[in-house]
Amino acid sequence: MTNDKWLMTNMKEQIDILVKLQKIETESDDIKLKLSGVSEKLDFFDSSLKELEQSIADKKSLLNDLNKKYRSYDSEVQTNFALIKKSQGRLVGVKTNREYQALLKEIEELKIKNSQAEDEMLLCLDRIDETEKDISVEKGEYSKLKEKVSSDKETIMREVDYGKERLAALKDEWDSTSSKVKPELFKRYTMVGQRVKGTAIVSVKKSVCNGCNMNLPPQMYNELQRCDSLKFCPNCQRIIYWEQL
Ligand SMILES: [Zn+2]
Repeated sequence: MTNDKWLMTNMKEQIDILVKLQKIETESDDIKLKLSGVSEKLDFFDSSLKELEQSIADKKSLLNDLNKKYRSYDSEVQTNFALIKKSQGRLVGVKTNREYQALLKEIEELKIKNSQAEDEMLLCLDRIDETEKDISVEKGEYSKLKEKVSSDKETIMREVDYGKERLAALKDEWDSTSSKVKPELFKRYTMVGQRVKGTAIVSVKKSVCNGCNMNLPPQMYNELQRCDSLKFCPNCQRIIYWEQL
């Protein structure tokens, strides 16, 4: 690069190029920030689905336990019922009153046991009913969520594709734009950007710096409007340029 190349361009043009460069960088940073949040978003979708899946699995296992419990009470009732029948059959053949009373007592105790077991069975049925309803509700929620997640994922992946394409285009634009900046000026621009950790060049409108919102001294504002030299905000030290209203 010869100095002649830079003699052709004046400060106003150089500032315009820096402004363009800054816009490219700001847009690239925004896209990068968006892209970096994508995997977190996708993880959140997956964990929401998994949470619901787990809840359904837990309820199914509870349902299984309840059914087992019900069947066990049921078989207990059947067994007791058979015993009652048997004891009742023996009643006619007993010889003594004592034996008779003992059998009656045995029958009575079995009946009480069965009545308790039947109460438990009713409770089981209630809970089975309730759990089945809960499962059906959660299955509905799950399929809705799954649909939403898959459509949201599609949207996100489209945004990712667009973002990557746009980043590549911005990179090309940045390369060609930055090559038009005087090396010395480019160095200062880069240094300011690193120091303020962001926007290196900001506009000044109605005497106010857009980077820090401070008022510029009137003399400086007048000089700025001439656009013939590089100016820095006395407060935030960013490169400033005059933006015509
Ligand atoms: Zn400032």
